[in-house]
Amino acid sequence: PYDGPSGDEIMAKRKQYLSPALLFHLYKTPLNVVEGKKQYLYDEKGRRYLDAFGGIATVSCGHCHPDVVAAIANQSNRLQHSTVLYLNHVIADFAQALASKLPANLKVVFFTNSGTEANELAMLMARLYSGCHDIISLRNAYHGNASATMGATAQSNWKFNIVQVYIYICFLNTCFSLLLYLWNDGIFSLGLNSHERKLISDFVTSKSGVHHAVNPDPYRGIFGSDGEKYAKEVQDMIDFGTSGNVAAFLSESIQGVGGMVELAPGYLPAVYNIIRKAGGLCIADEVQTGFARTGSNFWGFEAHGVVPDIVTMAKGIGNGIPLGAVVTTPEIAQVLTHRTYYNTFGGNPVCTAAGLAVLRVIEKEKLQQNAFVVGDVRGRGLMLGVELVTDHELKTPAKEETLQVLNHMKELGALIGKGGYYGNVLRITPPLCFTKEDADFLVDAMDLTLSRI
Ligand code: PMP
Repeated sequence: PYDGPSGDEIMAKRKQYLSPALLFHLYKTPLNVVEGKKQYLYDEKGRRYLDAFGGIATVSCGHCHPDVVAAIANQSNRLQHSTVLYLNHVIADFAQALASKLPANLKVVFFTNSGTEANELAMLMARLYSGCHDIISLRNAYHGNASATMGATAQSNWKFNIVQVYIYICFLNTCFSLLLYLWNDGIFSLGLNSHERKLISDFVTSKSGVHHAVNPDPYRGIFGSDGEKYAKEVQDMIDFGTSGNVAAFLSESIQGVGGMVELAPGYLPAVYNIIRKAGGLCIADEVQTGFARTGSNFWGFEAHGVVPDIVTMAKGIGNGIPLGAVVTTPEIAQVLTHRTYYNTFGGNPVCTAAGLAVLRVIEKEKLQQNAFVVGDVRGRGLMLGVELVTDHELKTPAKEETLQVLNHMKELGALIGKGGYYGNVLRITPPLCFTKEDADFLVDAMDLTLSRI
């Protein structure tokens, strides 16, 4: 039995000692979870909840999967160290296993600690490789919370929290754009040596230059499900908003934070062609869609019939352990040999031992097939969304009702999430070991909740 502090006591401590940004909660009375097992969470009183949102918090194989826990414990007992300094077989073994899950020539792995870091690195590599600055991402995307990824993210909710950062970035951009302009035009070289000049240009590189394309959202988007029309907008953006060349196109295969938005059919193949003609690389953010979550495929991009140049991943890769990765081709990977690049803990022995165990569990327990049979509302496999509106014609977001659904379902013992631009999308992303019985219970709970509301 649990004999730790109560939810109220923890809340008081959080208020005093943790970032105010952490005071965002899904529920009116925040849940104090003290244990997790497979697809279930337990609160301080021992009440069980069906966790249909744990996938978002990285759990793919299920909470505390014994194989993954054992791999972490064994490796922790043997050695934990930086990835960088010495040889260690676990890191290389996991890189090989991961590369074997990717198509074509996507065979070189860089490890990171998070999805943000993975996308930052992917954007940096694309800029170095192409010699171009401009990156195109989608409106309604989420890619992370460091400087470049914050730029690539286009979510209204985040703007309020980061407004000061934006002002700061805009100020720096203006200063450095001016500096670069003067420098490029040979008016002055500032008396800096080449290393110092490179530092400045790298700094500028990481801060700006993102264009947000019209979101190919089949439900709310201006061209409905016409992927080709949205793609044409990207061509226009390149023609009218850039030099004609771009560094990259970065997108999720299904927008997760944005509310489980699937991209209009035909969009990705058409855009990939356009980007490649403009000298850019295509980056697939598989942080949420990767590792068998979509059921039909191991990676989300595969359902669109495209092969990216760079794939980024995190969350499900480590079943809750901080781990991320960028996988690319040997040729593109070369760009990082021209500068100092390393990540002290990205892909350390303990995290990669967990990653290797996750891959084995997904295979052994046929979790991809399991995600495939469970359902298809909007999204794929076990990455589902239900958008609630109060008026079907006007598509008026049912924001308040969405919160009520979340809270009511929690009372019934089922945890789901919310998301989307208007915060009116129910998000269902359970651990991949979710069963048909769990799905029945979840649907019953949702049915009862919606009829009451
Ligand atoms: N990309 C996507 C698609 C994400 O959903 C997230 C996190 N929600 C990230 C990147 C950033 O990952 P992290 O929080 O691990 O930095």
